[in-house]
Amino acid sequence: MARKRVSKEKSIRRTKLFTELIICAAIIGAGAYTVKIAADRSSTVQKSHFYEKEEIKNPIEQPTTEPVDPNKIIFETSMVNTKDKFRGDLILVNEDHQYFGGDEKLVSILEKNDETGRSSFTSVNYDYTILEVVYEPMADMIDAFYEKYGINDIMIFGSFRSTEFQKQLYEADLAQTGSEDSTRVAKPGYSEHESGYAFDFSRYDPSNGAPIDYDGTGDYAWFTDNCYKYGFIIRYPEHKVDITKIQYEPWHFRYVGLAHAYYMTKNDLRMEEYIDLLKKHPYDGEHLEFSDDSGNSYEIYFVASDDGAETTSVPVPTGLDYDISGNNVDGFIVTVHK
Ligand SMILES: [Zn+2]
Repeated sequence: MARKRVSKEKSIRRTKLFTELIICAAIIGAGAYTVKIAADRSSTVQKSHFYEKEEIKNPIEQPTTEPVDPNKIIFETSMVNTKDKFRGDLILVNEDHQYFGGDEKLVSILEKNDETGRSSFTSVNYDYTILEVVYEPMADMIDAFYEKYGINDIMIFGSFRSTEFQKQLYEADLAQTGSEDSTRVAKPGYSEHESGYAFDFSRYDPSNGAPIDYDGTGDYAWFTDNCYKYGFIIRYPEHKVDITKIQYEPWHFRYVGLAHAYYMTKNDLRMEEYIDLLKKHPYDGEHLEFSDDSGNSYEIYFVASDDGAETTSVPVPTGLDYDISGNNVDGFIVTVHK
């Protein structure tokens, strides 16, 4: 019994050894085959050792000048009135930066609505005016909302204000609150409304014309989400009160133009932050370059104003569309449309 058991164990061991040998052979065979395939493949793409040596011996001559980049912009100088740093779509107006105005090109909102046959929105009366450049994008935006939701109860409740009117509002607010300062109404000279670039929404009851508060919720959230497509920003959002120093105002829209509204919205920047950011992109540094959702490409840079001189030299692109706007602080912003 004992012998038989030994021989059975031997036989098992032999079988095991045999199986292991077959597996080993199979592995070695497969390995060799893989190496062969790899070698075959590499021989078709890799250059020979000799060829590489030849290449080092006879290097291809590199051109000594940079190749001409067809997308590179050529600049020329434009002489700009230094005082124009207080003018343009990108002027920063807040409690630290006064608006110096007086020559705004204004249109009556209701007169324009009559002229263009619009009934998608209204305004308080014919005396409510806005910058001419702002009327069309504002009206287009409200038209798009009306087409989408069939709602036409938007009323422009605040638009351009003369400094005198701003003063009346400010003093009325102080009288009402009994306070020495106002957190709701900007000091005369420091309101965006004095520039004509801003407007406020209200709603009204079409049956009796009574105003209804606009809070930007429900269907009206469409304006918050889409206003950048028309060149506007929500100037005083809820989460930026520490930067704007103004309470949350979902009804207050500010025109900055398509390129800037796009960039500020996508990067969640307010005017204060954006003006700071643009200063980090001077003409002689790295320009800010981006494309919007419609595929329009922009290149943007900052040029400091020459405050001691009547004019400032501003480099502008040759043969391309561009806009120059003051920042109302210390210089100009050039927006190139590529
Ligand atoms: Zn406002």
